[in-house]
Amino acid sequence: MKLVVALPLVLSSLLSVSSMAKDFDFFYFVQQWPGSFCGTSQGCCFPDTGKPAADFGIHGLWPNYARCQGRQGLAARAMLGEDVAAAVISAAVGRRGKCWPEYCDDGNALRPWAIRDLFKSLEQNWPTLSCKGSGRSFEFWSYEWKKHGTCSNLEQRDYFASALAVKAAHNLTEILAGAGIVPSESERYSVSSVSEAIAQGTGFKANLECNRGADGEAQLFQVYQCVDKEAKQLIDCPLSMPTKCRGDTVKLPVF
Ligand code: 5GP
Repeated sequence: MKLVVALPLVLSSLLSVSSMAKDFDFFYFVQQWPGSFCGTSQGCCFPDTGKPAADFGIHGLWPNYARCQGRQGLAARAMLGEDVAAAVISAAVGRRGKCWPEYCDDGNALRPWAIRDLFKSLEQNWPTLSCKGSGRSFEFWSYEWKKHGTCSNLEQRDYFASALAVKAAHNLTEILAGAGIVPSESERYSVSSVSEAIAQGTGFKANLECNRGADGEAQLFQVYQCVDKEAKQLIDCPLSMPTKCRGDTVKLPVF
């Protein structure tokens, strides 16, 4: 009897995760090194505002679950058993069975007017380097808002202002330079020295992602800092992720 009453509740709460998907545990705040984005065999294209500064640029602020299947997973297992729970959860964790919410409100397109006072700062700190679009960084911000921002529980302006504030509070380019990690075509830096410099300089551990340069060498590509659900304070990353660095050292290519 209990199960009959509870089952629809569990199912509806799981399905509401996929339709609304406003529940998450922390943000990944992801910044990309432009020299590494541009230094692959594919290259890059500068935005219509010109070549960005030799500084980390924002890629996105992404709501994320601390565990793939979250609290709903535990509840479902208890109620439904492993197999049924796995099927329902895989529908609930994201359209492609991922571990974060995405595209939470397709009707909520980014309005230029809502972020008009942030334009200049966004153009400096969140420039597009992709050759796929029109070269307008607004297209990149709109995409990030639609895919990730609509799941953030933040209004449009707050979402972008929060990302800018976190970046400004912890200047990664300066932090790395303070540890002697500066853009160079000849130097190689140990991955652990980069991790330590960021942990020391910000007070919190981040995750690193490498990519391959046109010469096949590992480059420091993206830094994933973890931020609380209010998008205000850094936290230690609750999840580690594969760095794709493969070796012990990385380049920080000149930009
Ligand atoms: P995401 O990684 O947020 O799922 O997707 C990033 C999307 O934004 C891709 O479709 C990519 O082509 C586009 N994009 C536009 N400009 C940039 C850029 O400067 N860096 C990255 N990583 N993606 C960009």
